[in-house]
Amino acid sequence: MNYVIGSGPAGVAAATALLDAGRPVTMLDAGGELEAPIDARVEALSKRLPDEWTTAERDALRGPLRYNSEGAPLKLLFGSDYVYRDVDALQPVVTEGVDAYRALAAGGLSVLWGAAILPYADADFDEWPVTAAEMHRHYVSALRLTGLAAAEDGLARLYPLHMPPTATVETSAQARAVLSRMTEHADALRQRHVYFGKARLAFGQPPGDIRSCVHCGMCLYGCPYGLIYSARTTLLQRLVRSELFRYVPGVVVRTLTEEQGRVTIEGFSRGTGQPQRLDGTRVYLATGPLASTAILLASLREDAGAVTFAQSDHFLLPLRLRQPPRGADRERLHTLSQIFLEILDPEVSRRGVHL
Ligand SMILES: Cc1cc2nc3c(=O)[nH]c(=O)nc-3n(C[C@H](O)[C@H](O)[C@H](O)COP(=O)(O)OP(=O)(O)OC[C@H]3O[C@@H](n4cnc5c(N)ncnc54)[C@H](O)[C@@H]3O)c2cc1C
Ligand code: SF4
Repeated sequence: MNYVIGSGPAGVAAATALLDAGRPVTMLDAGGELEAPIDARVEALSKRLPDEWTTAERDALRGPLRYNSEGAPLKLLFGSDYVYRDVDALQPVVTEGVDAYRALAAGGLSVLWGAAILPYADADFDEWPVTAAEMHRHYVSALRLTGLAAAEDGLARLYPLHMPPTATVETSAQARAVLSRMTEHADALRQRHVYFGKARLAFGQPPGDIRSCVHCGMCLYGCPYGLIYSARTTLLQRLVRSELFRYVPGVVVRTLTEEQGRVTIEGFSRGTGQPQRLDGTRVYLATGPLASTAILLASLREDAGAVTFAQSDHFLLPLRLRQPPRGADRERLHTLSQIFLEILDPEVSRRGVHL
C-alpha cells in the first residue's frame, strides 16, 4: 500500500499523481475539521448573494479578532482557530527564530492561505537538482488542481503561466491605477530590475452554484462560496470519489522506519491516544515543513543536532496613493492579492523577491 501522510497541497498533489498512475493510496491525516455549527452557517450563507446577508450574519462569518503570541492578528477560518488547535501538544517542535505556521487540518494551511501563486524564476532553481523547464509539467499538474486566475501580461515572459487561465477576477480600481502608472514607467522600472503584473490566484472550480467572485470582500476570513482553492476541495471533490483512495483522519504520525523495502508507520490516534502501527510499501510524507522535519528526525533516532530551516521572511509594506481613484473606499472588491511586483536584482538578492 502507498501511504500519503497529510492532506495539504503537497499531500493531495502526491495522492492525485499516484491515483492517476493507477496506484492505490491511503491518506493518513491528523487534521481536524471546521466546527459543525460554523460550517452549517457558512453553507447557509453560500446559497445567498452577499446583498441578502444581514449585518449580523456578515459579522458572524468574520468571528472575533484573535492574536498570536507576538500580538499579530491570527489568520482564522470563519472565526475558528481549529487549524492550529492541539498543534503544540500533539506535535511539539522546538524552534528558534522560526515563525512558520503549522496546521492540523483537513486541507492543511491551504484552508486559510492567500491563494497567491507564481512559479519560481530560473534563478531560484540555482543549486536545486531540477530546472525551471523540467518543472513545467509539474506546474501544469498542480494548476489543474488549483485553478488559475491570471493575465498574460508582462510577468509571463519571466514567469510563464504554464496553462491558460481557468478563472478571471476583477482588479480593483486602486490596483488598476497603480498598474497603469507602472506601465507608463515600465522601461525605467525594468532598468531597476522591477517587474510587475496582475496577481495570480489559485481560483476556480468551486463546489457550489456561485461560480465567480461576487466581490463580497470576505476573502481574508474565508470564502463562503469556496472559490479560493483549498486542498480540502481536492480531497472531497476528487480523491474520496476514487475507489483506489482511502482517507483515514485522526492519525498522528510520529516515526517512519524503513526495512527490507517496507516502511513501518508509527503514531497514535488523535482522539484516544491509542498507538497505531501500519505497514506500507511507499510513504509520501507531506505534513508541512516543520512537522515533516520533526518526523524524519524522530525516525532517524539519532541526535542530529539543530536543523537550519530555510524560510522566506515576509513583511507588510503599506503603500499609499497620493491620488486614489474616486470611490475606492466604497468599491466592492476581493481582498486577496491584486498586483505582483517582482524584484530580480542580484544586488538586492540572488533570489527573486516577491511582493
Ligand atoms: C495565513 C497564510 C497565508 C498563506 N498564503 C499563501 C499564499 O498566498 N501563497 C502560497 O503559495 N502559500 C501561502 N501560504 C503557505 C501555504 O499555505 C503552505 O505553503 C502550504 O499549505 C503547505 O502545504 P503542505 O501540504 O506542505 O503542508 P500543510 O498545508 O501544512 O499541510 C500539512 C498536512 O499534514 C497534516 N499533518 C501534520 N502533522 C501530521 C502528523 N504528525 N501526522 C499526520 N498528519 C499530519 C495536517 O493535518 C495537514 O493536512 C500561506 C500560509 C498561511 C499560514
Ligand atoms: S470576494 Fe473573496 S470571499 Fe467574496 S466571493 Fe470573491 S473570493 Fe470569495
